[in-house]
Amino acid sequence: MFLRSTLEALASVLAPAPCRLCAKPLLNASRIPICPECLASFVPIGEPICQCCGRPFPAIVAEHATASGAAPLTLCRLCRENTFAFARARSFGVYDTALHNAILLLKYEELTRLGHWFAERLAEVAAREAELFQADVVVPVPLHPARQRERGYNQAELIARPLAKKLGIKQGSYLLMRTRPRPARLVLSRKEHWESVRGAYATRKGLRVDKLRVLLVDDVMTTGATLDACSRALKSAGAASVVGLTVARVTSGLGPLPAPAMPTRKAGAPVSKHS
Ligand SMILES: [Zn+2]
Ligand SMILES: [Zn+2]
Repeated sequence: MFLRSTLEALASVLAPAPCRLCAKPLLNASRIPICPECLASFVPIGEPICQCCGRPFPAIVAEHATASGAAPLTLCRLCRENTFAFARARSFGVYDTALHNAILLLKYEELTRLGHWFAERLAEVAAREAELFQADVVVPVPLHPARQRERGYNQAELIARPLAKKLGIKQGSYLLMRTRPRPARLVLSRKEHWESVRGAYATRKGLRVDKLRVLLVDDVMTTGATLDACSRALKSAGAASVVGLTVARVTSGLGPLPAPAMPTRKAGAPVSKHS
C-alpha cells in the first residue's frame, strides 16, 4: 500500500494527471483533479434571487420591476404561492456544463476531496445569510437504499459531512430516508418529478428530530420538489425549521428531467444529466 501510494505520488510528479474537466495537465499539486481555471469558471449565483427559494430572476425581469417603480422583486411566483415547505434554499452555482461535469465526478467516482471543496463553497453561501442558515444538524438528501447499495455511497453525504464539520454542528445522514425509489422511466416531466418525490421520504422511527433546525444538503436543485418533500417529512416529525443548500441550481427551462446515466469511470466520457 505504502509502496503503491509512493509510486503514485512519484508518477503524478513525473506525469501530472490531466484536469478532469478540460484535460489540460494539472501543473500544481492539487487536492482535487480540476484545474484552477475550471474551478474559476463555475458561475456563482448572485442577486437578484427569490429571497425564499433562491431562484435567480432573469436580469431583464428585475430591471423592468425597478424601472417601472414597482416594489423590488423579492419572491418568485412559486414562493408567493407558498409552494415550498423549506424556509430558504440557496445554491452555489449555475448548473452549467462545467458544474454538471464536476458533480458527475463526485457522483460516480466518490471524489471526497471535491465534496470538501463544494462544502467550503456552501459554507460561504450560508455565511452570507448566517442568521437564516443557523442550524443544529446537517442532513444530506438520502438515496433510496437500493440505489445507495448499488453506488456504495451517497454523493450528497460527501458534501454534508465536511460541511457539518466546518459549521461545527452534527451530521445527520441517519435521520432521513428515501422510502420509495425513483421511477425507472428515463425522462420525467416536471409534474411527474413532483409526484415521484411526494411522500417518498420519511424520518427514521425512534430518532428525535423535534425542535431541530435542519440544514438539508443536495448536489443539484431542479424544481425544488426533492428539497420540499424532504422538508415536509422533517417538519411532520417535528423539526423546527428546514433550510436547504445545493451545489448547483438549474436556472433555465426546467423542462423534462433526463434520467441519470449509468456510472462512468472514464475521463472525458459522455456526460449524463442529473436525476
Ligand atoms: Zn481544467
Ligand atoms: Zn422562490
